[in-house]
Amino acid sequence: MALRFFNTYSREIEEFEPRDPRARPIRMYTCGPTVYSRAHIGNFRAYIFEDLLQRHLELRGYKVNRVMNITDVEDKTIRGAREANVPLQKFTEQFKDAFFEDANTLRIKRADEYPAATDQRYIDRMIELIGALISKGLAYQADDKSVYFRINKFPDYGKLAHFDLTQLQSTGRVKHDEYDKEHIGDFALWKAWDEADGNVKWNSPWGAGRPGWHIECSAMSTALLGDQIDIHCGGVDNIFPHHEAEIAQSEGVTGKKFVHYWLHCAHLLVDGQKMAKSLGNFYTVPDVLAKGYTGRELRYALLRVHYRVPLNFTWEGMNEARESLARIDEWLARLRELTGRPRRDVRSAQQAAPASQFEDALDDDLNISAALGFLFESIRETNRAMDQNEMDAISAGAWLEWWKRINTVLDLEAETEGAIPDEVTQLAQQRENARHEKNWKRSDELRERISALGWEVRDTKDGPKLARGAGSM
Ligand code: AMP
Ligand code: ZN
Repeated sequence: MALRFFNTYSREIEEFEPRDPRARPIRMYTCGPTVYSRAHIGNFRAYIFEDLLQRHLELRGYKVNRVMNITDVEDKTIRGAREANVPLQKFTEQFKDAFFEDANTLRIKRADEYPAATDQRYIDRMIELIGALISKGLAYQADDKSVYFRINKFPDYGKLAHFDLTQLQSTGRVKHDEYDKEHIGDFALWKAWDEADGNVKWNSPWGAGRPGWHIECSAMSTALLGDQIDIHCGGVDNIFPHHEAEIAQSEGVTGKKFVHYWLHCAHLLVDGQKMAKSLGNFYTVPDVLAKGYTGRELRYALLRVHYRVPLNFTWEGMNEARESLARIDEWLARLRELTGRPRRDVRSAQQAAPASQFEDALDDDLNISAALGFLFESIRETNRAMDQNEMDAISAGAWLEWWKRINTVLDLEAETEGAIPDEVTQLAQQRENARHEKNWKRSDELRERISALGWEVRDTKDGPKLARGAGSM
């Protein structure tokens, strides 16, 4: 069955076709965290949905090149650094580390790249894009010295969100006075420096300042994935203005269709309201761990509902996740026992090799609820067969093989002894980030911390690998 996704742009389920079937891998861009505080589990619902999408594409044989940006300069990060009285980079670094730590706890597969907006090469790219937009008449510098996108000159503006231009209201992310702009919906590409920004500023042809949030993603996605990408994701709150603005900026410069498939996940709710920092109704991953739950249980709780259906977070839901995982664990233990001890007295092996319903359900716009429904139905049936002595070692082995395959998407198996401890994996990931940022001092420090825990990082041509350190058990 062909893969199908709901494309926010067309508001229709569309068959998935890579932009250029010969040009593997699939190019996927996902909006990442704004690192002004620790991400909450609502943010992680979005990242888990993206993880599911990537893993399912991979199960279906595609290679995926995924970029997730880190928004480390915008109003909130600047305000946070000022209030904490530390340089911006120092302020954001702790939340970057926390993000990777939490993503790891939730078993989210790493993206290929995590570009940070403050990296000079992306700032240069932003300046280049803004210059191109001005020369095309799509942007202008206003009296307040900031540069704005001229939405009236981009007829497709509003198409992603299905918005009428005349209905546009201020977005709240725009800092300067509205009357400096030609149209209330014009959004900032470059924000002129002011005192509140302290020493956060870069030079540009329009004076000192800093980029607007939207141009950051256009610059990083086109720099790393090219002018045209296959899939772009985020939560539904990203649709407008953020993704709408990304289309206007990227297509305004290149004249080519920026994104083929736009996928957005519904929100994680608390008592019917969006989980959000601003509402104060949020939990972080450590908050959930502190209540005695595991990362695996939280992963399951955030994963189990179709991504386009709002999901209400409750502790009851966490307990249900725990029960569901216990059923999977018991089932796997029974199957393993059966394969390990072939029995001669099996009456009839009625359990044929499992069918493809799980994968077919995911082909259908990532219908995880149906896929899990099929998994639990299979568990019920195979348990019954085992109760009645109707399953032999070969079919138990086939079910275990099947589980191994679907678990490349779910990643829900209990940790086994001898596995790399979370702390070690987290430190290794932080070291990778430090290396990416060419922060060799920090990378060496992290290597030492890993070594103190009895592990060793080996940099191979396929990336870093962890091994038991010399002299450790
Ligand atoms: P931010 O750090 O605010 O830029 O958000 C990072 C990602 O989390 C974006 O893709 C948002 O759309 C998503 N997001 C924020 N709040 C929620 C929520 N309550 N449920 C699901 N996704 C969310
Ligand atoms: Zn973005």
